[in-house]
Amino acid sequence: MMRQYELVEKVLSYDPDADENLLNRAYVYGYKKHGTQKRASGDPYFSHPIEVAAILADLKLDATVVATGLLHDTIEDTDATREEIDKMFGPDIGSLVEGLTKISELKLISRETAQSENLRKLFFAISKDIRVLLVKLADRLHNMRTIMHVKPEKRMRIAQETMDIYAPLAGRMGIHFFREELEDNCFAVLNPEARETIIKRLKEMHAEEKYLLHDIAEILNRKLKQANIKARVYGREKRPYSIFRKMERQSISLETISDIYAFRIITKTEDDCYRALGLIHTEWPMVPERFKDFISIPKSNDYRSVHTTIIGPTRKRIELQIRTEEMEEVNEFGIASHALYKDQSYINNPQTSQIPGDETNGSDQNANGELNPGSVPLSEKTSAFKWLRHVIDSLEDGDTPEEYLEHTKLELFADQAFCFTPKGRLIALPKHATPIDFAYAVHTDIGNTCVGCKINGVTAPLRSKLNNGDEVEIATSKASKPQPIWESFVMTGKAKSAIRRASREERRRQYSRLGQEMLTRIFKKIKVEFTEEKLIAALPKLAFKNMQDVYVAIARNEIKLRDVAVAMVPLLLENHADKFNHQTHFEIGASNATSPMPVRGATEDVGVIRFSKKHPPIAGERIVGILKPGDGMVIYPIHSEELEAYHAHPELWIDMVWDIDENENQWFTAPIEITLLNEIGALASVSSVIAEQNCNIWNTFIISREVDYYHLYLEVEVRNIQHFNQMKNSLQTLSIVSEIKRVAGKKYGEIG
Ligand code: MN
Repeated sequence: MMRQYELVEKVLSYDPDADENLLNRAYVYGYKKHGTQKRASGDPYFSHPIEVAAILADLKLDATVVATGLLHDTIEDTDATREEIDKMFGPDIGSLVEGLTKISELKLISRETAQSENLRKLFFAISKDIRVLLVKLADRLHNMRTIMHVKPEKRMRIAQETMDIYAPLAGRMGIHFFREELEDNCFAVLNPEARETIIKRLKEMHAEEKYLLHDIAEILNRKLKQANIKARVYGREKRPYSIFRKMERQSISLETISDIYAFRIITKTEDDCYRALGLIHTEWPMVPERFKDFISIPKSNDYRSVHTTIIGPTRKRIELQIRTEEMEEVNEFGIASHALYKDQSYINNPQTSQIPGDETNGSDQNANGELNPGSVPLSEKTSAFKWLRHVIDSLEDGDTPEEYLEHTKLELFADQAFCFTPKGRLIALPKHATPIDFAYAVHTDIGNTCVGCKINGVTAPLRSKLNNGDEVEIATSKASKPQPIWESFVMTGKAKSAIRRASREERRRQYSRLGQEMLTRIFKKIKVEFTEEKLIAALPKLAFKNMQDVYVAIARNEIKLRDVAVAMVPLLLENHADKFNHQTHFEIGASNATSPMPVRGATEDVGVIRFSKKHPPIAGERIVGILKPGDGMVIYPIHSEELEAYHAHPELWIDMVWDIDENENQWFTAPIEITLLNEIGALASVSSVIAEQNCNIWNTFIISREVDYYHLYLEVEVRNIQHFNQMKNSLQTLSIVSEIKRVAGKKYGEIG
């Protein structure tokens, strides 16, 4: 815990005129008020405000802000009041502490409360006085540094809120010092495995390249010296989180990130920046399209620097950032930097530097009706200031929270899609995320059961890309499951792993069902009662842990049915030797038609039980399943010529029956080929008949066209085989149709 005199000396070291007395009084007041309170770590509570004050002193902020850091939790957590603080420290500090108390109660990513309204309050508080944000960020930074003492659930919530709201806000205000550490602390809570992996790999790379890095800095220093350019050079490694974000965004591996190490060249003057740049480009080849001049065109958060990447010594790509000392300070500390912050005019003349538009806020007046002094210690020239002004303007213009957020929050997250639930809860997603990512971000159950969505009130495909400000409504169905194909287009890790897990579980469930069905059927056949007790008793003999594992192994053909049956029923072989000699398999036909397996329709491509793609069966027609060892089962209509290949393997055949619920609204695809007269309007007549029969045309193309006839390929969707026949019959009544036949599924270009 930092001592009183240490803190005071720290402030005096960069500001000899600082109000020492104020700091001492704030320290003693805070110390007394917090008394014997303890933090989650067991430390005295007051150690927290002291650390917050020390962080603010790291930013070289003035005594008022540092004192506010010491007092920031007094109104919230002790019997201190606004009046008392006003009386002791003046209304300036009083209003800062009150502002911090107000925003500390806001739940910014909560589900229950009106989140947009809370964000509005947060922006209001920080736009009234940017110093509120500085203290709040220092407060959050210290809380994140000590987050491991907090209970896991609360820890996740605080880390998520920090990652979603405070870290980007710090970045938008140009305070990278805060942003990077906040992000990295959150990363450690939200995705510890990924962070550990990156740190481990970085260490290895570091060991390999230690000398190289040192050499590059040496060479750069020497060259600059020779050219008489006063500058300091330092190498800098990216934080694990920014490496992770880059890997995620560009889907690349750690090894291919070229700029894990960046070198900074800090010069005295702007002129020297360009001289250094010229020198470097003369010495080493530059990588095209990597050169950026943020000195002549600063970024919107006031960031200024020249960036370039060169093929340096040892042919390695090296990223270089060239800037002046002053730019360096603004780049790291943003609006908190001395260069911007040291606009002292607000102290003597509060009104002139107040943010225009601030007057519209009624609460801007304190209890005595006076205007709060010292609202905005910011140069009006900075872009961060302009952005804040823009926020306030939109507060006046936008009368709904949605409009407000569109104006402010949305541009805060340029690389994020910032979306809303119909109730106004905000969901922050990476750019190009889909409604499925959105559904999973809301809740895993919603993701797992989502079947459709509306974006801004309009029905849209689940693979749509979401944009900032979209309102997304997810339709769910309890009967629905995640589709494996989703994995190919979702953006978030949460959605990806949930889909993977769900399809793994689903596959196992299907295997288990299939294996169980197979086992009980063989017992029926040998006329022995099947009981689970028998199977459980046989588990040790079979060396399986549970029944599900046995079922799965059976369906995967990893264990013979016969061996399972023998383990379950001792003496089985003696009593049923005749049956097992040649009946360890299933035969299609009357012999086992008493116990066919029910199928509900399994259209998923990767499902354990799936339909033939070439000859998709239609509900109601006779079907048969073929076991593909290790790859589940494929269902064919009995007339499929593909079955010929399995005539020599009756053990793979399983008789199947349909188990279709009429209300389930299931459709089946039937590929057909129609020969029709080459006549004007022929195609139109065919499609209108199909439409009249309430069938969908899924795909169509012309196979061949002769002078007198067309050969048309169609994939028609029908409800069942009766529906199919009805449609076929009505097509046949057309005089232009000469032949209709069901064919194998084709792709365009396939003839035959
Ligand atoms: Mn605090």
